[in-house]
Amino acid sequence: MTLSKHIFVTGGVVSSLGKGLTSASVGMLLERRGLNVRLQKFDPYINVDPGTMSPYQHGEVYVLEDGAETDLDLGHYERFTNAPINRNCNITTGRVYQRVIDKERRGEYLGSTVQVIPHVTDEIKQAIQRVAADDVDVVITEIGGTVGDIESLPFIEAIRQFALDVGKENVLYIHLTLVPFLKAAGEIKTKPTQHSVRELRQIGIQPDVLICRTERPIPETEKEKIALFCNVEKGAVIEERDKDFSIYEVPISLLENHLDQIIIRKLHLPSRHIEIDDWQEMLHSLRNPEHEVTIAVVGKYVKHKDAYKSIYESLDHAGIGNSTQVVIRRIESEEIEQEGADRLLRGVDGILVPGGFGTRGVEGKVQTIRFARETGIPFFGICLGLQCSVIEYARHMVGLDGANSTEFEKSTEHPVVCLLEEQQGVTRLGGTMRLGSYPCHLVDGSLAQAAYGASIIHERHRHRYEFNSEYLEKFSAAGMKATGLSPDGQLVEIVEVPEHPWFVAVQFHPEFKSKPIAPHPLFKAFIRAAVQRRRSPRGVEETQLAQ
Ligand code: GLN
Repeated sequence: MTLSKHIFVTGGVVSSLGKGLTSASVGMLLERRGLNVRLQKFDPYINVDPGTMSPYQHGEVYVLEDGAETDLDLGHYERFTNAPINRNCNITTGRVYQRVIDKERRGEYLGSTVQVIPHVTDEIKQAIQRVAADDVDVVITEIGGTVGDIESLPFIEAIRQFALDVGKENVLYIHLTLVPFLKAAGEIKTKPTQHSVRELRQIGIQPDVLICRTERPIPETEKEKIALFCNVEKGAVIEERDKDFSIYEVPISLLENHLDQIIIRKLHLPSRHIEIDDWQEMLHSLRNPEHEVTIAVVGKYVKHKDAYKSIYESLDHAGIGNSTQVVIRRIESEEIEQEGADRLLRGVDGILVPGGFGTRGVEGKVQTIRFARETGIPFFGICLGLQCSVIEYARHMVGLDGANSTEFEKSTEHPVVCLLEEQQGVTRLGGTMRLGSYPCHLVDGSLAQAAYGASIIHERHRHRYEFNSEYLEKFSAAGMKATGLSPDGQLVEIVEVPEHPWFVAVQFHPEFKSKPIAPHPLFKAFIRAAVQRRRSPRGVEETQLAQ
């Protein structure tokens, strides 16, 4: 039986309350009190993982070191804490059922009728135990969805049973809810919270802590009312006011409301001094930038708030690392095709082309990269961003007319980006890309090596296509260099154009390894280059455009 304590975070009233951020913040506060924490998320949908879901539906797919394709909340976990996160930390209904069905087919249920209770709930409880370990003090499990949804019922039932299995003294239920302000009435309303807690209690869960998302301060009398109606200690009704400025303020606001102390008391955890100075300093530099730059992010899903979540966060982190406010201009690459790069990109201090799939908008990305290359604006390409850089350079500098990736044109004359042999026969979509962390050797004297200050790095991948290294020599002769290679030298992981002030494109996804207190070296170097560009006269740009 486990020695770890367990915190379960549920959500009520509406979705998108920020359960992920709250769970990450709780993890951070406990970790900074010297506790060994793990975080885990259950998602109630039937997809085995979000890897096959559209960014429009689901936002970003967040990739872990071990190659798991997961929910973007796991990105918050990694940005806020140092807890090791692996594929056991994101479990969907689909994955639970897959395991149950596999067991049934193997005859492991010895002839029983397989049912939601106990077989599915047992599987869920095992998933919780898998994350716990002897040296883990606290496991925080976030339950996706909203209490009352049909989909999340088996998870809620499982966490109810879990307290019976391990003893209630080892379990804490945190319920995140909304306390709306009604303009017409001129006051905040506690009824939705009461209803959502009633829903939980009907299933048999009495929340220990209520975290109330609210636009306005909640008066003491209203807190008392919530406490009374929801059967929660008054001190455990915590206000979480909307943070317009930065998500990184959330843990501080929970700290000010003593959430960490309440958890420690209720779970009988050892109480240690909290180490939070570096986080406060980070927030201080976020609030007091010395410079400002505008970065264009030209992609396919930019209009969706969360589709490039980690990219936007990493740009912010790099801003903090450079005392710079990063203003992000989101541009659909199709708009570049219609209106031209010059019109939409003129005046920006840096251009980033992120990852993506499929043909739509690719030509706009190629035009964007050409503009960045010719005007000397710092350019950072990521995954598809590298592949489009290679296509652009092939067409306009190497002299390979019509060069393309075989993803977009199967029978292109110059397949400068193509599938590796091991990807050729792959027909199943889920989990079959080149995924997770791979080593990469950096070339001496490159921008990448200068940024990392290292010669071997490890970065996370999520793609099928690769630079076609048969063309490597031609590119090198024309001025685009491979500055990062797989250890066997076969795969091109980074390209640079040394003639350009800052042109770096990477096949991996550095955005999955950036934290607010440890900005990613490449993002940091990119923003530094953008700051320099902002300061220096626009000579290069003007002359080129005049030609
Ligand atoms: N579509 C490209 C590939 O599969 C790029 C993927 C990405 O940008 N993540 O290789």
